[in-house]
Amino acid sequence: MAQASARVLQSGMRLPPMPTIRELVKLYRLQARKQLSQNFLMDERLTDKIVKSAGRIDPRDLVLEVGPGPGGITRSILRRHPQRLLLVEKDPRFGETLQLLKECASPLNIQFDIHYDDILRFNMEQHIPDTSQRIHLIGNLPFAISTRLLINWLEDLSCRRGAFRRIDTCMTLTFQKEVADRICAPVGGEQRCRLSVMSQVWTEPVMKFTIPGKAFVPKPQVDVGVVKLIPLKRPKTQLPFPLVERVVRHIFSMRQKYCRRGFGTLLPPEDREDVTQKLFQRAEVQDTLRSFELTVEQCLRLAEVYSEHLVTRPEVAAYDYRAPKNAEVL
Ligand code: SAM
Repeated sequence: MAQASARVLQSGMRLPPMPTIRELVKLYRLQARKQLSQNFLMDERLTDKIVKSAGRIDPRDLVLEVGPGPGGITRSILRRHPQRLLLVEKDPRFGETLQLLKECASPLNIQFDIHYDDILRFNMEQHIPDTSQRIHLIGNLPFAISTRLLINWLEDLSCRRGAFRRIDTCMTLTFQKEVADRICAPVGGEQRCRLSVMSQVWTEPVMKFTIPGKAFVPKPQVDVGVVKLIPLKRPKTQLPFPLVERVVRHIFSMRQKYCRRGFGTLLPPEDREDVTQKLFQRAEVQDTLRSFELTVEQCLRLAEVYSEHLVTRPEVAAYDYRAPKNAEVL
């Protein structure tokens, strides 16, 4: 009998009976805190669907969950039986519910670590020194930090550091629907912006599904999109992340104007027109396209010619058209 139940647990099919998340939230009086963007998912079918979106989780894999809160998604991850589960949660009020989950899951033989920390400061290399395990990053992210966290992780990916020392670390994350649409937006799309290009230089973002706001407690003002970001085996550029970010930011700073206008603000006004024209020619990009009409490759060619320009004109790197003495009417 004991052996049979151990087999069921080992196969990752079932956790021992536990109070529901709703009951735990009530029992421990876990009122959602707005300043930590807390919106809980109580529906097991939805938490299972999020984890299923991460794809296959092998018994040797590690899952890092951001912001487990009372542990709804955590339960769904446990049912997939990774070798190690690492939780990073800023709010220590969830200590009791997460500890209960850890105890209930102990027969599963999963290495279960809980850190009460800010994910924006969490040192991946220290906590995951071993690179032999594949990592899945999963989280129903706090809205307030989701874009910042994604940009940080894209930079880590570009440098192959942190959770991205291995190129097969996928991210399955929730965003406000509008942000999710922007991340995945195609060329010419209404939502196409800096975040679309930055995400698509290093990953293939896939919109998995939408969760209606009413599925969360408390209900946020907006719906939520679940996006899986799969790192590209061959990134589209070797240029440094901050340089690409700077160029893309300037290109998209005037979304409705010809893209040469935004790009031009990278350059001092003295010879801006001339240099802009030459650089667009060299990059073989039509300067009258709007920024949202540019492909990732075109943005990267503009970043390359800008980078080459800095070799002969290094002082241009420090040029900031918004600095008070440079502030111009464009
Ligand atoms: N995973 C739970 C669920 O789906 O019901 C909770 C999701 S809730 C949207 C976001 C969670 O992230 C909360 O538990 C919140 O306390 C936590 N959180 C907020 N800021 C954080 C940060 N900087 N680092 C780690 N966790 C954070």
